[in-house]
Amino acid sequence: MTVIGKTIAIANQKGGVAKTTTAVNLGAWLSLMGKKVLLVDTDSQGNATTGVGVDKNSLEKCLYDAIIEGVPLREIIVQSAVENLDLVPATIELAGAEIELVGVPEREKILKAALSGVKDDYEYILIDCPPSLGLMTINALAAADSLLIPIQCEFYALEGLSQLLNTFKMVQQRLNSSLVLEGVLLTMFDGRTNLSIQVVEEVKKHFRDKVFKAIIPRNVRLSEAPSYGKPVMVYDRRSRGAEVYRELAKEVMGIE
Ligand code: ADP
Ligand code: MG
Repeated sequence: MTVIGKTIAIANQKGGVAKTTTAVNLGAWLSLMGKKVLLVDTDSQGNATTGVGVDKNSLEKCLYDAIIEGVPLREIIVQSAVENLDLVPATIELAGAEIELVGVPEREKILKAALSGVKDDYEYILIDCPPSLGLMTINALAAADSLLIPIQCEFYALEGLSQLLNTFKMVQQRLNSSLVLEGVLLTMFDGRTNLSIQVVEEVKKHFRDKVFKAIIPRNVRLSEAPSYGKPVMVYDRRSRGAEVYRELAKEVMGIE
């Protein structure tokens, strides 16, 4: 089956749940498996940008220029350090974008419009969302075919989830009726703690077959890799973190 421009928003308004880690490593594995992938960084912190080896200081343009200035995305896309993985970078400039968009007509669909020009060039488009349910995340959901929710296996993991699901439903009803839930990804699992095990059970009870079989363990290699500007499988291919993100990539591609 050929996939064209399948767009997955990776969102959760909580910070530190592994949205960016997932966007970078899922994107990198899909591209290493031969898929043409575009990673879209919509967080002004630009962690996904750095995480795939792009120096923010070297950039002339970023996503800001596409959504505020109307620059075609093709002029903004850069190559990452990973073959077949392109990037729409984000810099701190993006921080003011949400406010600048107030009053702009169709402001929830600006990212969708920008992506429409390049969708056919890629098999997968992954959107790394900021830690909020603001206009940027709404834009991501409006542009996406599906939502992937990372959930950290920690206390308070499920807090705030109903707000995220309400936003998901609102977008389905008002902006993007074809949006579906891709799946829920359990992250930073620590099998030595009862808490991690409880969170897994709780999430499975709620989301059933929508929970990815791949459960991402806490793995120090995953947290070290970004400081080298490398996805984990480039940094340490044999690490457990690399292995499990590979399993996730296969699930997303529909091969078990
Ligand atoms: P978010 O984008 O949701 O804010 P990040 O992907 O930036 O979250 O992850 C938050 C922090 O946790 C980062 O420092 C990251 O390197 C680290 N991290 C993410 N996943 C794991 C993991 N499975 N094991 C260990 N550290 C992780
Ligand atoms: Mg992030």
